[in-house]
Amino acid sequence: MSEERFKNVISHAKEYGFVFQSSEIYDGLAAVYDYGQTGVMLKKNIREYWWQSMVQLHENIVGIDAAIFMHPKTWKASGHVDGFNDPMIDNKDSKKRYRADVLIEEYIEKYVQKIEKEVAKGIKRFGDDFDEEQFRKTNPNVLRSQNKIDEVNDRMKTALEAGDLDGLKQLILDLEIACPISGSKNWTDVRQFNLMYSTQMSATDGESQIYLRPETAQGIFVNYLNVQKTGRMKLPFGIAQTGKAFRNEIIARQFIMRMKEFEQMEMQFFVQPGTEKDWFAYWKDQRIKWHQSLGVAPENYRFHDHVKLAHYANAAVDIEYNFPFGFKEVEGIHSRTDFDLKQHQEFSGKKLQYFDPERNESYVPYVVETSIGLDRMFLVLLTDALKEEDLGEGQTRTVLQLPPALAPYQCAILPLVKKDGLPEMADTIFKKLRLKYNCFYEEKDSIGKRYRRQDAIGTPVCITVDHESLENNDVTLRFRDSMEQRRVKIDEISAILEKEVSMSHLLEKLLD
Ligand code: ATP
Repeated sequence: MSEERFKNVISHAKEYGFVFQSSEIYDGLAAVYDYGQTGVMLKKNIREYWWQSMVQLHENIVGIDAAIFMHPKTWKASGHVDGFNDPMIDNKDSKKRYRADVLIEEYIEKYVQKIEKEVAKGIKRFGDDFDEEQFRKTNPNVLRSQNKIDEVNDRMKTALEAGDLDGLKQLILDLEIACPISGSKNWTDVRQFNLMYSTQMSATDGESQIYLRPETAQGIFVNYLNVQKTGRMKLPFGIAQTGKAFRNEIIARQFIMRMKEFEQMEMQFFVQPGTEKDWFAYWKDQRIKWHQSLGVAPENYRFHDHVKLAHYANAAVDIEYNFPFGFKEVEGIHSRTDFDLKQHQEFSGKKLQYFDPERNESYVPYVVETSIGLDRMFLVLLTDALKEEDLGEGQTRTVLQLPPALAPYQCAILPLVKKDGLPEMADTIFKKLRLKYNCFYEEKDSIGKRYRRQDAIGTPVCITVDHESLENNDVTLRFRDSMEQRRVKIDEISAILEKEVSMSHLLEKLLD
Protein backbone atom coordinates (compact mmCIF):
# COMPACT_ATOMS: atom_id res chain seq x y z
CA MET A 1 0.00 0.00 0.00
CA SER A 2 2.71 2.43 1.05
CA GLU A 3 4.84 1.39 -1.86
CA GLU A 4 1.88 1.95 -4.15
CA ARG A 5 1.36 5.42 -2.66
CA PHE A 6 5.00 6.36 -3.16
CA LYS A 7 4.88 5.16 -6.78
CA ASN A 8 1.86 7.42 -7.30
CA VAL A 9 3.77 10.39 -5.90
CA ILE A 10 6.68 9.77 -8.27
CA SER A 11 4.51 9.32 -11.34
CA HIS A 12 2.38 12.34 -10.44
CA ALA A 13 5.56 14.41 -10.05
CA LYS A 14 6.60 13.48 -13.56
CA GLU A 15 3.20 13.67 -15.25
CA TYR A 16 2.49 17.19 -14.02
CA GLY A 17 5.94 18.70 -14.56
CA PHE A 18 7.21 18.74 -10.97
CA VAL A 19 10.29 16.52 -11.17
CA PHE A 20 12.07 14.84 -14.10
CA GLN A 21 15.02 12.51 -14.05
CA SER A 22 18.18 14.37 -15.07
CA SER A 23 19.25 13.84 -18.71
CA GLU A 24 16.33 11.50 -19.20
CA ILE A 25 16.81 11.24 -22.98
CA TYR A 26 20.19 9.67 -22.23
CA ASP A 27 18.52 7.22 -19.85
CA GLY A 28 19.07 9.45 -16.83
CA LEU A 29 21.79 9.94 -14.28
CA ALA A 30 21.39 8.04 -11.02
CA ALA A 31 20.25 10.11 -8.02
CA VAL A 32 20.21 13.38 -9.99
CA TYR A 33 16.91 15.14 -10.76
CA ASP A 34 15.60 18.23 -12.53
CA TYR A 35 12.65 20.32 -11.44
CA GLY A 36 10.07 21.06 -14.13
CA GLN A 37 7.75 24.00 -14.73
CA THR A 38 5.51 23.41 -11.70
CA GLY A 39 8.19 21.89 -9.46
CA VAL A 40 10.44 24.91 -9.79
CA MET A 41 7.67 27.15 -8.47
CA LEU A 42 6.83 24.93 -5.50
CA LYS A 43 10.53 24.68 -4.66
CA LYS A 44 11.00 28.43 -4.97
CA ASN A 45 7.99 29.07 -2.71
CA ILE A 46 9.24 26.67 -0.01
CA ARG A 47 12.64 28.39 -0.14
CA GLU A 48 10.96 31.77 0.06
CA TYR A 49 8.84 30.78 3.06
CA TRP A 50 11.92 29.46 4.85
CA TRP A 51 13.86 32.64 4.01
CA GLN A 52 11.12 34.97 5.18
CA SER A 53 10.64 32.99 8.39
CA MET A 54 14.36 33.32 9.14
CA VAL A 55 15.59 36.62 7.71
CA GLN A 56 12.43 38.69 7.54
CA LEU A 57 10.95 37.64 10.89
CA HIS A 58 14.16 37.88 12.93
CA GLU A 59 15.84 41.26 13.17
CA ASN A 60 19.03 39.50 14.29
CA ILE A 61 19.29 37.07 11.34
CA VAL A 62 20.82 38.11 8.02
CA GLY A 63 21.39 36.15 4.82
CA ILE A 64 24.39 35.48 2.59
CA ASP A 65 25.07 33.63 -0.64
CA ALA A 66 28.53 32.03 -0.51
CA ALA A 67 30.20 30.35 -3.50
CA ILE A 68 30.04 26.60 -3.98
CA PHE A 69 33.81 26.42 -4.47
CA MET A 70 35.83 27.13 -1.36
CA HIS A 71 39.49 27.10 -0.44
CA PRO A 72 40.45 23.41 -0.03
CA LYS A 73 41.76 24.08 3.49
CA THR A 74 38.14 24.76 4.51
CA TRP A 75 37.38 21.07 4.24
CA LYS A 76 40.51 20.05 6.12
CA ALA A 77 39.47 22.37 8.94
CA SER A 78 35.85 21.22 8.96
CA GLY A 79 36.91 17.59 9.19
CA HIS A 80 35.30 16.58 5.88
CA VAL A 81 38.53 15.48 4.18
CA ASP A 82 39.38 13.03 6.92
CA GLY A 83 36.04 12.23 8.41
CA PHE A 84 33.14 12.68 5.99
CA ASN A 85 32.71 8.99 5.41
CA ASP A 86 29.87 6.54 5.42
CA PRO A 87 30.40 2.99 6.65
CA MET A 88 29.35 0.83 3.69
CA ILE A 89 28.76 -2.90 3.40
CA ASP A 90 28.09 -4.97 0.27
CA ASN A 91 25.94 -8.03 -0.06
CA LYS A 92 28.01 -10.55 -2.01
CA ASP A 93 24.99 -12.18 -3.66
CA SER A 94 22.94 -9.18 -4.81
CA LYS A 95 26.08 -7.00 -5.23
CA LYS A 96 24.07 -4.20 -3.61
CA ARG A 97 25.79 -1.70 -1.32
CA TYR A 98 24.22 -0.43 1.90
CA ARG A 99 25.10 1.97 4.68
CA ALA A 100 25.81 -0.28 7.65
CA ASP A 101 24.18 2.09 10.16
CA VAL A 102 21.07 2.41 7.99
CA LEU A 103 20.64 -1.38 7.87
CA ILE A 104 20.82 -1.45 11.66
CA GLU A 105 18.43 1.48 12.04
CA GLU A 106 15.91 -0.24 9.79
CA TYR A 107 16.20 -3.30 12.04
CA ILE A 108 15.49 -1.10 15.08
CA GLU A 109 12.52 0.52 13.32
CA LYS A 110 10.81 -2.90 13.11
CA TYR A 111 10.82 -3.05 16.93
CA VAL A 112 9.56 0.54 17.15
CA GLN A 113 6.65 -0.48 14.92
CA LYS A 114 5.99 -3.55 17.10
CA ILE A 115 5.62 -1.27 20.13
CA GLU A 116 3.26 1.05 18.25
CA LYS A 117 1.12 -1.97 17.25
CA GLU A 118 0.89 -3.12 20.88
CA VAL A 119 -0.14 0.39 21.93
CA ALA A 120 -2.76 0.56 19.16
CA LYS A 121 -4.15 -2.79 20.33
CA GLY A 122 -4.34 -1.46 23.90
CA ILE A 123 -6.20 1.66 22.78
CA LYS A 124 -8.67 -0.48 20.87
CA ARG A 125 -9.23 -2.84 23.79
CA PHE A 126 -9.48 -0.34 26.66
CA GLY A 127 -10.80 2.76 24.90
CA ASP A 128 -10.99 5.83 27.14
CA ASP A 129 -9.66 3.93 30.18
CA PHE A 130 -6.36 3.30 28.44
CA ASP A 131 -3.33 4.72 30.25
CA GLU A 132 -0.76 4.83 27.49
CA GLU A 133 2.16 5.95 29.65
CA GLN A 134 1.57 3.18 32.17
CA PHE A 135 1.14 0.64 29.38
CA ARG A 136 4.46 1.60 27.78
CA LYS A 137 6.18 1.22 31.16
CA THR A 138 4.70 -2.13 32.13
CA ASN A 139 3.47 -4.21 29.19
CA PRO A 140 5.86 -7.18 28.86
CA ASN A 141 5.80 -7.20 25.02
CA VAL A 142 6.55 -3.47 24.88
CA LEU A 143 9.35 -3.83 27.43
CA ARG A 144 10.90 -6.73 25.53
CA SER A 145 10.95 -4.67 22.29
CA GLN A 146 12.27 -1.61 24.10
CA ASN A 147 15.10 -3.62 25.66
CA LYS A 148 16.05 -4.92 22.24
CA ILE A 149 16.03 -1.38 20.80
CA ASP A 150 18.22 -0.09 23.64
CA GLU A 151 20.66 -2.97 23.35
CA VAL A 152 21.10 -2.56 19.57
CA ASN A 153 21.32 1.23 19.83
CA ASP A 154 24.03 0.91 22.50
CA ARG A 155 26.12 -1.48 20.44
CA MET A 156 25.75 0.65 17.30
CA LYS A 157 26.64 3.84 19.18
CA THR A 158 29.75 2.27 20.72
CA ALA A 159 30.92 0.92 17.35
CA LEU A 160 30.23 4.19 15.47
CA GLU A 161 31.91 6.34 18.10
CA ALA A 162 35.00 4.15 18.15
CA GLY A 163 35.08 3.90 14.33
CA ASP A 164 34.95 0.14 14.93
CA LEU A 165 34.01 -1.21 11.49
CA ASP A 166 34.46 -4.86 12.51
CA GLY A 167 32.11 -4.23 15.43
CA LEU A 168 29.47 -2.86 13.04
CA LYS A 169 29.78 -5.90 10.80
CA GLN A 170 29.54 -8.21 13.82
CA LEU A 171 26.35 -6.45 14.90
CA ILE A 172 24.81 -6.97 11.45
CA LEU A 173 25.78 -10.66 11.59
CA ASP A 174 24.52 -11.11 15.17
CA LEU A 175 21.17 -9.51 14.32
CA GLU A 176 20.99 -11.79 11.28
CA ILE A 177 20.14 -8.86 9.03
CA ALA A 178 19.51 -10.08 5.48
CA CYS A 179 19.86 -8.18 2.20
CA PRO A 180 16.37 -6.99 1.17
CA ILE A 181 17.14 -7.93 -2.45
CA SER A 182 18.85 -11.34 -2.25
CA GLY A 183 17.63 -12.32 1.21
CA SER A 184 21.14 -13.57 2.00
CA LYS A 185 23.38 -12.77 4.97
CA ASN A 186 26.55 -13.06 2.92
CA TRP A 187 28.20 -9.68 3.69
CA THR A 188 31.58 -8.12 2.89
CA ASP A 189 33.55 -6.23 5.54
CA VAL A 190 32.38 -2.70 6.38
CA ARG A 191 34.49 0.00 4.67
CA GLN A 192 34.54 3.80 4.81
CA PHE A 193 33.74 5.90 1.70
CA ASN A 194 34.35 9.65 1.48
CA LEU A 195 31.32 11.52 0.19
CA MET A 196 32.96 14.64 -1.28
CA TYR A 197 33.32 15.25 -5.01
CA SER A 198 36.59 16.78 -6.06
CA THR A 199 37.72 18.62 -9.17
CA GLN A 200 40.73 20.63 -10.35
CA MET A 201 41.19 24.37 -10.35
CA SER A 202 44.15 25.83 -12.21
CA ALA A 203 46.43 27.97 -10.12
CA THR A 204 49.62 29.85 -11.01
CA ASP A 205 51.69 27.10 -9.41
CA GLY A 206 49.87 24.23 -11.15
CA GLU A 207 46.61 22.47 -10.53
CA SER A 208 45.06 22.23 -7.16
CA GLN A 209 42.38 19.86 -6.00
CA ILE A 210 39.23 21.51 -4.79
CA TYR A 211 35.88 20.14 -3.65
CA LEU A 212 32.25 20.72 -4.43
CA ARG A 213 30.81 21.76 -1.05
CA PRO A 214 29.02 18.90 0.74
CA GLU A 215 27.14 21.39 2.96
CA THR A 216 26.45 25.10 2.85
CA ALA A 217 27.37 25.68 6.50
CA GLN A 218 31.09 26.22 5.97
CA GLY A 219 30.42 29.21 3.69
CA ILE A 220 28.76 30.79 6.71
CA PHE A 221 31.51 29.93 9.20
CA VAL A 222 34.30 31.38 7.04
CA ASN A 223 32.24 34.58 6.60
CA TYR A 224 31.32 34.87 10.26
CA LEU A 225 33.64 37.78 10.98
CA ASN A 226 32.90 39.59 7.69
CA VAL A 227 29.20 39.63 8.48
CA GLN A 228 29.59 40.35 12.19
CA LYS A 229 31.84 43.34 11.55
CA THR A 230 30.19 44.85 8.45
CA GLY A 231 26.67 44.20 9.75
CA ARG A 232 27.64 45.39 13.24
CA MET A 233 25.93 42.30 14.62
CA LYS A 234 25.71 41.63 18.34
CA LEU A 235 25.40 38.16 19.86
CA PRO A 236 23.12 36.34 19.61
CA PHE A 237 22.73 36.61 15.83
CA GLY A 238 22.24 34.27 12.89
CA ILE A 239 23.38 33.92 9.29
CA ALA A 240 21.07 32.13 6.86
CA GLN A 241 21.81 30.68 3.46
CA THR A 242 20.21 28.47 0.84
CA GLY A 243 22.17 26.74 -1.90
CA LYS A 244 23.39 23.62 -3.63
CA ALA A 245 25.43 20.92 -1.92
CA PHE A 246 26.96 17.78 -3.41
CA ARG A 247 27.53 14.34 -1.91
CA ASN A 248 28.65 11.18 -3.60
CA GLU A 249 25.83 9.15 -2.11
CA ILE A 250 26.56 5.54 -2.92
CA ILE A 251 23.05 4.33 -2.44
CA ALA A 252 20.71 6.18 -4.72
CA ARG A 253 17.12 5.41 -3.87
CA GLN A 254 13.81 6.84 -2.80
CA PHE A 255 13.56 9.47 -5.52
CA ILE A 256 14.58 12.99 -4.38
CA MET A 257 15.12 11.81 -0.80
CA ARG A 258 18.78 11.07 -1.35
CA MET A 259 20.41 12.94 -4.22
CA LYS A 260 23.97 13.55 -5.32
CA GLU A 261 23.21 17.22 -5.98
CA PHE A 262 20.67 18.82 -3.66
CA GLU A 263 19.80 22.06 -1.96
CA GLN A 264 20.12 22.95 1.68
CA MET A 265 18.61 25.77 3.73
CA GLU A 266 20.83 26.38 6.72
CA MET A 267 20.99 28.91 9.52
CA GLN A 268 23.89 29.18 11.92
CA PHE A 269 23.02 31.01 15.13
CA PHE A 270 26.00 32.44 17.05
CA VAL A 271 25.53 32.62 20.82
CA GLN A 272 27.36 33.25 24.09
CA PRO A 273 28.99 30.05 25.41
CA GLY A 274 26.78 28.62 28.14
CA THR A 275 23.52 29.76 26.52
CA GLU A 276 23.56 27.18 23.72
CA LYS A 277 21.23 24.67 25.40
CA ASP A 278 18.51 27.32 25.74
CA TRP A 279 18.93 28.36 22.13
CA PHE A 280 18.86 24.74 21.05
CA ALA A 281 15.48 24.37 22.78
CA TYR A 282 14.28 27.63 21.19
CA TRP A 283 15.20 26.54 17.65
CA LYS A 284 13.77 23.07 18.15
CA ASP A 285 10.47 24.70 19.02
CA GLN A 286 10.62 27.28 16.21
CA ARG A 287 11.43 24.72 13.55
CA ILE A 288 8.68 22.26 14.45
CA LYS A 289 6.25 25.22 14.41
CA TRP A 290 7.43 26.04 10.89
CA HIS A 291 6.74 22.48 9.76
CA GLN A 292 3.37 22.35 11.46
CA SER A 293 2.32 25.69 10.00
CA LEU A 294 2.18 23.91 6.64
CA GLY A 295 -0.82 21.85 7.63
CA VAL A 296 0.87 18.45 7.72
CA ALA A 297 -0.83 16.14 10.26
CA PRO A 298 1.16 16.46 13.54
CA GLU A 299 1.38 12.68 13.97
CA ASN A 300 3.39 12.53 10.76
CA TYR A 301 6.24 14.45 12.37
CA ARG A 302 8.48 13.33 15.19
CA PHE A 303 11.75 14.30 16.85
CA HIS A 304 14.56 11.79 16.79
CA ASP A 305 17.45 12.38 19.18
CA HIS A 306 20.84 11.45 17.77
CA VAL A 307 22.20 8.22 19.14
CA LYS A 308 25.67 9.12 18.01
CA LEU A 309 26.62 12.71 18.78
CA ALA A 310 29.39 14.08 16.59
CA HIS A 311 32.43 14.73 18.76
CA TYR A 312 31.92 18.51 18.51
CA ALA A 313 28.17 18.52 19.25
CA ASN A 314 26.60 18.70 22.69
CA ALA A 315 23.02 18.22 21.51
CA ALA A 316 21.45 17.13 18.22
CA VAL A 317 17.97 16.22 17.10
CA ASP A 318 16.37 15.36 13.77
CA ILE A 319 12.91 16.33 12.66
CA GLU A 320 11.52 13.29 10.86
CA TYR A 321 8.50 12.91 8.59
CA ASN A 322 6.50 9.75 8.12
CA PHE A 323 7.24 9.08 4.43
CA PRO A 324 5.53 6.11 2.73
CA PHE A 325 8.81 4.26 3.41
CA GLY A 326 8.91 5.16 7.12
CA PHE A 327 10.01 8.04 9.36
CA LYS A 328 13.10 9.73 7.86
CA GLU A 329 15.10 12.88 8.57
CA VAL A 330 14.03 16.13 6.93
CA GLU A 331 15.91 18.56 9.14
CA GLY A 332 18.68 18.48 11.71
CA ILE A 333 19.14 20.87 14.63
CA HIS A 334 22.60 20.76 16.11
CA SER A 335 24.39 22.47 18.95
CA ARG A 336 27.92 22.54 17.50
CA THR A 337 29.79 24.34 20.33
CA ASP A 338 32.73 26.49 19.12
CA PHE A 339 34.18 23.61 17.09
CA ASP A 340 33.89 25.05 13.56
CA LEU A 341 35.05 28.59 14.29
CA LYS A 342 37.96 27.27 16.38
CA GLN A 343 39.01 24.92 13.60
CA HIS A 344 38.95 27.73 11.02
CA GLN A 345 40.85 29.93 13.43
CA GLU A 346 43.53 27.31 13.72
CA PHE A 347 43.78 26.42 10.02
CA SER A 348 43.63 30.02 8.74
CA GLY A 349 45.69 31.61 11.49
CA LYS A 350 43.06 34.41 11.69
CA LYS A 351 41.25 35.25 14.91
CA LEU A 352 37.50 34.57 14.75
CA GLN A 353 36.50 36.06 18.06
CA TYR A 354 33.74 38.27 19.30
CA PHE A 355 34.28 41.13 21.71
CA ASP A 356 31.42 41.04 24.17
CA PRO A 357 30.90 44.53 25.58
CA GLU A 358 28.69 43.19 28.40
CA ARG A 359 31.27 40.73 29.64
CA ASN A 360 34.16 42.93 28.55
CA GLU A 361 36.00 39.95 27.05
CA SER A 362 36.67 38.27 23.70
CA TYR A 363 35.72 34.68 22.92
CA VAL A 364 34.79 32.33 20.09
CA PRO A 365 30.98 32.13 19.97
CA TYR A 366 29.07 28.86 20.19
CA VAL A 367 26.78 27.82 17.33
CA VAL A 368 23.33 26.28 17.15
CA GLU A 369 22.39 25.36 13.57
CA THR A 370 19.22 24.38 11.79
CA SER A 371 19.78 22.49 8.55
CA ILE A 372 16.96 21.40 6.28
CA GLY A 373 17.03 19.77 2.84
CA LEU A 374 14.88 21.73 0.40
CA ASP A 375 14.33 18.69 -1.82
CA ARG A 376 13.27 16.55 1.14
CA MET A 377 10.85 19.26 2.25
CA PHE A 378 9.49 19.33 -1.31
CA LEU A 379 8.94 15.57 -1.06
CA VAL A 380 7.19 15.96 2.32
CA LEU A 381 4.72 18.45 0.86
CA LEU A 382 4.13 16.55 -2.36
CA THR A 383 3.57 13.27 -0.48
CA ASP A 384 1.33 14.83 2.13
CA ALA A 385 -0.69 16.88 -0.33
CA LEU A 386 -1.47 14.25 -2.95
CA LYS A 387 -4.98 12.87 -2.39
CA GLU A 388 -7.28 10.66 -4.39
CA GLU A 389 -10.79 11.81 -3.46
CA ASP A 390 -13.94 9.81 -3.84
CA LEU A 391 -16.66 12.15 -5.11
CA GLY A 392 -19.42 9.53 -5.02
CA GLU A 393 -21.30 7.99 -7.96
CA GLY A 394 -18.13 6.26 -9.14
CA GLN A 395 -16.30 9.57 -9.60
CA THR A 396 -12.89 10.40 -8.19
CA ARG A 397 -10.50 13.31 -8.46
CA THR A 398 -6.78 13.74 -7.88
CA VAL A 399 -6.05 16.82 -5.83
CA LEU A 400 -2.83 18.30 -4.53
CA GLN A 401 -3.73 20.04 -1.29
CA LEU A 402 -0.60 22.15 -1.00
CA PRO A 403 -0.52 25.12 1.37
CA PRO A 404 -2.07 27.77 -0.96
CA ALA A 405 0.83 30.20 -0.58
CA LEU A 406 3.32 27.55 -1.73
CA ALA A 407 1.35 26.18 -4.69
CA PRO A 408 3.01 26.63 -8.11
CA TYR A 409 0.14 28.89 -9.21
CA GLN A 410 -1.98 30.91 -6.80
CA CYS A 411 -4.87 31.09 -9.25
CA ALA A 412 -6.01 30.08 -12.72
CA ILE A 413 -8.05 32.32 -15.01
CA LEU A 414 -10.38 30.39 -17.27
CA PRO A 415 -12.78 31.87 -19.88
CA LEU A 416 -15.73 29.48 -20.16
CA VAL A 417 -15.57 29.50 -23.96
CA LYS A 418 -13.05 30.75 -26.47
CA LYS A 419 -15.33 33.37 -28.06
CA ASP A 420 -17.90 36.12 -27.46
CA GLY A 421 -15.36 38.42 -25.81
CA LEU A 422 -14.78 36.12 -22.82
CA PRO A 423 -11.04 35.56 -23.53
CA GLU A 424 -10.56 39.32 -23.75
CA MET A 425 -12.21 39.92 -20.41
CA ALA A 426 -10.29 37.04 -18.80
CA ASP A 427 -7.07 38.44 -20.23
CA THR A 428 -7.68 41.80 -18.57
CA ILE A 429 -8.16 40.08 -15.18
CA PHE A 430 -5.07 37.91 -15.81
CA LYS A 431 -2.86 40.88 -16.65
CA LYS A 432 -3.90 42.65 -13.45
CA LEU A 433 -3.55 39.69 -11.09
CA ARG A 434 -0.20 38.54 -12.42
CA LEU A 435 1.40 41.71 -11.12
CA LYS A 436 1.00 40.12 -7.68
CA TYR A 437 0.53 36.36 -8.14
CA ASN A 438 1.75 33.55 -10.32
CA CYS A 439 -1.36 33.00 -12.44
CA PHE A 440 -2.26 30.32 -14.96
CA TYR A 441 -4.30 31.15 -18.06
CA GLU A 442 -6.09 28.47 -20.07
CA GLU A 443 -8.78 28.43 -22.75
CA LYS A 444 -8.67 24.84 -24.01
CA ASP A 445 -11.00 21.96 -23.04
CA SER A 446 -14.18 21.82 -21.00
CA ILE A 447 -14.25 23.76 -17.76
CA GLY A 448 -14.54 20.49 -15.76
CA LYS A 449 -11.35 19.15 -17.29
CA ARG A 450 -9.56 22.41 -16.65
CA TYR A 451 -10.61 22.38 -12.97
CA ARG A 452 -9.25 18.84 -12.62
CA ARG A 453 -5.91 19.83 -14.13
CA GLN A 454 -5.62 22.74 -11.71
CA ASP A 455 -6.54 20.41 -8.79
CA ALA A 456 -3.73 18.10 -9.83
CA ILE A 457 -1.10 20.85 -9.66
CA GLY A 458 -2.54 22.34 -6.48
CA THR A 459 -3.93 25.68 -7.71
CA PRO A 460 -6.06 26.90 -4.76
CA VAL A 461 -8.45 29.18 -6.68
CA CYS A 462 -9.89 29.11 -10.22
CA ILE A 463 -11.51 32.21 -11.68
CA THR A 464 -14.05 31.50 -14.40
CA VAL A 465 -15.29 34.18 -16.77
CA ASP A 466 -18.67 33.44 -18.43
CA HIS A 467 -21.32 35.30 -20.41
CA GLU A 468 -22.89 36.77 -17.28
CA SER A 469 -19.51 38.24 -16.40
CA LEU A 470 -19.83 40.57 -19.40
CA GLU A 471 -23.13 41.93 -18.13
CA ASN A 472 -22.58 41.93 -14.35
CA ASN A 473 -18.84 42.44 -14.06
CA ASP A 474 -18.52 39.33 -11.91
CA VAL A 475 -16.87 35.90 -12.08
CA THR A 476 -17.12 32.46 -10.47
CA LEU A 477 -14.42 31.63 -7.93
CA ARG A 478 -13.95 27.91 -7.49
CA PHE A 479 -11.97 26.69 -4.47
CA ARG A 480 -9.69 23.67 -4.77
CA ASP A 481 -10.30 21.90 -1.45
CA SER A 482 -14.01 22.45 -0.90
CA MET A 483 -14.86 22.69 -4.63
CA GLU A 484 -17.22 25.45 -3.50
CA GLN A 485 -18.17 27.95 -6.21
CA ARG A 486 -18.90 31.54 -5.34
CA ARG A 487 -19.97 34.46 -7.50
CA VAL A 488 -17.99 37.64 -6.78
CA LYS A 489 -17.45 41.06 -8.34
CA ILE A 490 -14.25 41.51 -10.29
CA ASP A 491 -12.98 44.21 -7.99
CA GLU A 492 -13.36 41.85 -4.99
CA ILE A 493 -11.05 39.17 -6.42
CA SER A 494 -7.82 40.71 -5.25
CA ALA A 495 -8.87 40.97 -1.59
CA ILE A 496 -10.22 37.40 -1.58
CA LEU A 497 -7.03 36.05 -3.09
CA GLU A 498 -4.98 37.96 -0.54
CA LYS A 499 -6.95 36.24 2.22
CA GLU A 500 -6.60 32.78 0.65
CA VAL A 501 -3.07 32.62 -0.68
CA SER A 502 -0.86 35.15 1.04
CA MET A 503 2.37 33.90 2.63
CA SER A 504 1.84 36.29 5.53
CA HIS A 505 -0.86 33.92 6.89
CA LEU A 506 1.77 31.21 7.21
CA LEU A 507 4.23 33.59 8.82
CA GLU A 508 1.62 34.70 11.36
CA LYS A 509 1.33 31.12 12.61
CA LEU A 510 4.98 31.23 13.66
CA LEU A 511 4.37 34.09 16.05
CA ASP A 512 1.93 32.29 18.39
P1 ATP B 1 21.23 11.45 6.11
O1 ATP B 1 21.56 10.83 7.45
O2 ATP B 1 19.81 11.22 5.67
O3 ATP B 1 22.24 11.19 5.06
P2 ATP B 1 22.55 13.75 7.10
O4 ATP B 1 22.38 13.59 8.58
O5 ATP B 1 23.83 13.39 6.46
O6 ATP B 1 21.34 13.02 6.34
P3 ATP B 1 22.88 16.56 7.24
O7 ATP B 1 24.32 16.51 6.93
O8 ATP B 1 22.46 16.85 8.65
O9 ATP B 1 22.18 15.23 6.73
O10 ATP B 1 22.19 17.58 6.23
C1 ATP B 1 21.09 18.39 6.57
C2 ATP B 1 19.89 18.12 5.69
O11 ATP B 1 20.25 18.10 4.32
C3 ATP B 1 19.23 16.78 5.95
O12 ATP B 1 18.34 16.84 7.02
C4 ATP B 1 18.52 16.50 4.64
O13 ATP B 1 17.24 17.12 4.62
C5 ATP B 1 19.40 17.19 3.61
N1 ATP B 1 20.20 16.19 2.90
C6 ATP B 1 21.35 15.61 3.30
N2 ATP B 1 21.82 14.77 2.38
C7 ATP B 1 20.93 14.80 1.35
C8 ATP B 1 20.85 14.15 0.09
N3 ATP B 1 21.79 13.31 -0.31
N4 ATP B 1 19.80 14.43 -0.73
C9 ATP B 1 18.85 15.30 -0.35
N5 ATP B 1 18.87 15.94 0.83
C10 ATP B 1 19.89 15.71 1.67
